[in-house]
Amino acid sequence: MNHSPRKGPYVSGQSPQYEQQLQVLNPATEEVVATVPAAGPADVDAAVSLATKAQRAWAALAPADRARLLRRFAVTVDEHREELALLEVREAGHTIGNARWEAGNVRDLLDYAAGGVERLTGRQIPVPGGLDVTLLEPLGVVGVIAPWNFPMPIAAWGVAPALAAGNAVILKPAETTPLTALRLAELAHEAGLPEGLFQVLPGHGAVAGNALVEHPGVAKIVFTGSTAVGKQVLAKGSALLKRVTLELGGKSPNIVFADSDLEAAAAAAPMSFLDNSGQDCCARTRILVQASVHDRFLELLAPGIESVRVGDPADEQTQMGPLISAVQRDRVRAYVDPDAPGIRGKAPEGPGFWFPPTVLTGVEPHARVAAEEVFGPVAVVLPFADEADAIRLANDTPYGLSGSIWTRDVGRALRVSQAVRAGNLSVNSHSSVRYWTPFGGFKQSGIGRELGPDALTAFTETKNVFISTEGPAL
Ligand code: NAD
Repeated sequence: MNHSPRKGPYVSGQSPQYEQQLQVLNPATEEVVATVPAAGPADVDAAVSLATKAQRAWAALAPADRARLLRRFAVTVDEHREELALLEVREAGHTIGNARWEAGNVRDLLDYAAGGVERLTGRQIPVPGGLDVTLLEPLGVVGVIAPWNFPMPIAAWGVAPALAAGNAVILKPAETTPLTALRLAELAHEAGLPEGLFQVLPGHGAVAGNALVEHPGVAKIVFTGSTAVGKQVLAKGSALLKRVTLELGGKSPNIVFADSDLEAAAAAAPMSFLDNSGQDCCARTRILVQASVHDRFLELLAPGIESVRVGDPADEQTQMGPLISAVQRDRVRAYVDPDAPGIRGKAPEGPGFWFPPTVLTGVEPHARVAAEEVFGPVAVVLPFADEADAIRLANDTPYGLSGSIWTRDVGRALRVSQAVRAGNLSVNSHSSVRYWTPFGGFKQSGIGRELGPDALTAFTETKNVFISTEGPAL
């Protein structure tokens, strides 16, 4: 796949110059899959003008017509699910099973958002001398800056509700994974969405991403990625009083109490941090285990880690693929002392950005690997003494995205769920994300919530209107 080339490098106002082409590599083979032109500030300007016009017409459509077009978009995505999934395997190294789920998730997000268009209701508030109502109005043009770890679902978390609430959207995918986003824009067009309403601008974060954040014509930015860049986006966006939603990193605890079904907890632990090769902001990478069952838990955990099938992501049997890039593999490698005690799985040798499943034991809670987001297939096991100690350790992090609690004691499950400062917890399971339940972080894991019943409201401004029943004031 090749898109028309651009001439000469962009100078972003920062050094150095940025390549005008994005080279998309297959992370499992290191082969070039595609070359895509990188958008610059002028492209962002043009996209914002087009989106501004498209948004006015879109917001003026009858709600049922907007809903119908979004449902048609969902059907078109569904018809191309396998094609989108295979593209995600090639550009992101996702296992085919995951990639199929991800394309289906885009369909579901569009369907769910379409169902909200006619239910986006304001309120009527009792007041003397008249009628008071609130109107939920679209914001205008929304910029969605997506990461490479779940290119399709995370983009759709922003795109689907923003469109449903009457906004236009400009999506900037990550440098390494622009292809499924570009294909989704084509499918939107095929489904009949108006020209300019949903545009995809691949490009460098510091150039195209930054131009979206600084553009006065963009009313809201939905950013998912690293905490460091998220803070910059918030600072720059707030200078323009822009609405900003941030979905950032995590270092989530998996708390295993001695009274839990230990076999079940050990069986579920590997894929709770190895899914998507650990490149998951909800990965349960701090496994906190009650000291009295620590050794037994490790005995049960070891076969599960050692037997994970790591390899060709297109193979239906594969459980874990490569990391996204050489840069990411080197980042992950830098966290792991090859001689540190623990449990290690296998990974292919040769081309591809591979890293084996890794569990480290005997690590101090404040060691870098135990405290920072590794974003790779690496977890640490930390022992705790009792419930209070488990809560202290779970909260001993600047992050607060998700976490799991394994116990048979219902009271304890509730107490610990209330005490852990994180946005998404699960008891005796590792589920975090459903498109119809809210998702987002406490502390440095983010600001705002996505998904769930209020997803559309996050893309509106509330306007209060008072209508006097007393006649015109004299
Ligand atoms: P990143 O934060 O640099 O990139 C995320 C998105 O932001 C990309 O689309 C990127 O182009 C864009 N971006 C980068 N700089 C920007 C800027 N100045 N202005 C506007 N947009 C900008 O993430 P990364 O470098 O790809 O990954 C680094 C680390 O971030 C990972 O190791 C991981 O710890 C974390 N991460 C977290 C998530 C998540 O889901 N929370 C996703 C990706 C990465």
